[in-house]
Amino acid sequence: MAIVQRIQDVYRPVEERVKDLKEVERLFTEEEIKAQASRCADCGIPFCHGAGCPLGNLIPEFNNAVAAGDVRKGYDIICKTAFFPEFTGRVCPALCEASCTRNLNDDAVMVRQVEKHMIETAFKEGWVEQPAAVPNGKTVAVIGGGPSGLYAAEALRRKGYAVTVYEKKPKVGGLLRYGIPNWKLEKEVIDRRVTLLEEAGIKFVCNCEIGKDISADYIRKNYDYLFLAIGTPNARDLNIPGRDAEGIYLALDFLHGEGEKYNAKGKKVLIIGGGDTGNDCVGKSLREGCKSVLQVEFMPKPPEERSPSTPWPDWPYMLRTSYAHHEGGERRWNVSSKQFIVKDGKVAGVEAVAVEWEMAPNGRPIKPNEVPNSTEVIDADLVVLAMGFTGVPAEGIVKDLGLELTPRTAIIQDPSRNIYAVGDCANGASLVVRAMADAKAKVSKF
Ligand SMILES: Cc1cc2nc3c(=O)[nH]c(=O)nc-3n(C[C@H](O)[C@H](O)[C@H](O)COP(=O)(O)OP(=O)(O)OC[C@H]3O[C@@H](n4cnc5c(N)ncnc54)[C@H](O)[C@@H]3O)c2cc1C
Ligand code: SF4
Repeated sequence: MAIVQRIQDVYRPVEERVKDLKEVERLFTEEEIKAQASRCADCGIPFCHGAGCPLGNLIPEFNNAVAAGDVRKGYDIICKTAFFPEFTGRVCPALCEASCTRNLNDDAVMVRQVEKHMIETAFKEGWVEQPAAVPNGKTVAVIGGGPSGLYAAEALRRKGYAVTVYEKKPKVGGLLRYGIPNWKLEKEVIDRRVTLLEEAGIKFVCNCEIGKDISADYIRKNYDYLFLAIGTPNARDLNIPGRDAEGIYLALDFLHGEGEKYNAKGKKVLIIGGGDTGNDCVGKSLREGCKSVLQVEFMPKPPEERSPSTPWPDWPYMLRTSYAHHEGGERRWNVSSKQFIVKDGKVAGVEAVAVEWEMAPNGRPIKPNEVPNSTEVIDADLVVLAMGFTGVPAEGIVKDLGLELTPRTAIIQDPSRNIYAVGDCANGASLVVRAMADAKAKVSKF
């Protein structure tokens, strides 16, 4: 019997995908997915399930079912632990795969795509339902309709609570909709699920910011429980000379802002920040026909292989090359931006210096040192700041509800007053799967 290898070409061809806004990942045939699921060794102690997946998905069990040709059984298995596999099946970095036993000396089993195949088959075959619940007479307001808010809402509804989700944007989805671009997650995928949640009885009130359109006090008095799922709205800025120049934007404004100023067509784009958000900004620049795109990062280039600081089955510290990096552009590390170069009020570039990092014995960077005489000017006529998020502001809803923040500005929930906090606002900016797993864990204690 031929040995099945992990499929490496998971994306549509670059020439095709940069010309549209459709999902970059290609579709897999039933046979391909079945063969990939059959690579699962069904380990005695499956680390993918315990150490890997924050939702505790029963990965070997659904792989077995799919490998045997029973997608329905696989779908029923994933439904035991996850409400929205269509989101994680598209955007999860697959923490489970990093802790797959095969990953010790081979390529990990392809779990995320199996997950997507099961849920998409389920939608196609009409298997997807939101189970009925017995009302318990209690009411909950969920503030924020991102993945953690949606997960908390559905988990509470299934326990019998009457749930209303308040969302300040025109539609729910949070960063699934207003952060992650369409080519990673098509927005119809969110609408399809939200329709089902609505039919199941969850009420959605959009264009409604709690603390502004409705007071936090009103919400507190009118609901038995409050779930804050407001994310981390504040982006980290780069307050160096020249910051006020035209043509310098925060990543979320660039990714979702409308108008010519946010369009990269014909421009030399500089992305400051080497994470996921920065990668998506590279993807957008290329789709819009930029002249060039350079992504710079202050930190050093991570090792090509798993660093000894993150041994298996931990999520590895190592170089990651996203879909966008296969599409074009250039990446550089060890770059510290000192000031923006401004001409006629518009950004014309960045003056930067090189840094060298002192490394710990385990291969992690600990201290940056500027390299003398390394000053250079990087030309750019559009600069995007993609340097992460700073947490939750102490004013607004947090202050109105008399809540406290951790030193890292995450909300400290107050169960004594029936106020809970879930997702990024409770833990710092992270991942969709972690935001949902946090909501799952907190509601499970109800
Ligand atoms: C560009 C980008 C790409 C990303 N890519 C990935 C990826 O590929 N994979 C991955 O796993 N993660 C990714 N992430 C991270 C992921 O999107 C977040 O970790 C996740 O969405 C957090 O979910 P959440 O529900 O806690 O918060 P959010 O998604 O931020 O949702 C919070 C919601 O609360 C609403 N809100 C805030 N205040 C109020 C108020 N007072 N009243 C009413 N509503 C309010 C907001 O409008 C928002 O809709 C990415 C993030 C960005 C920015
Ligand atoms: S949610 Fe993420 S970590 Fe969990 S099984 Fe799916 S891909 Fe793996």
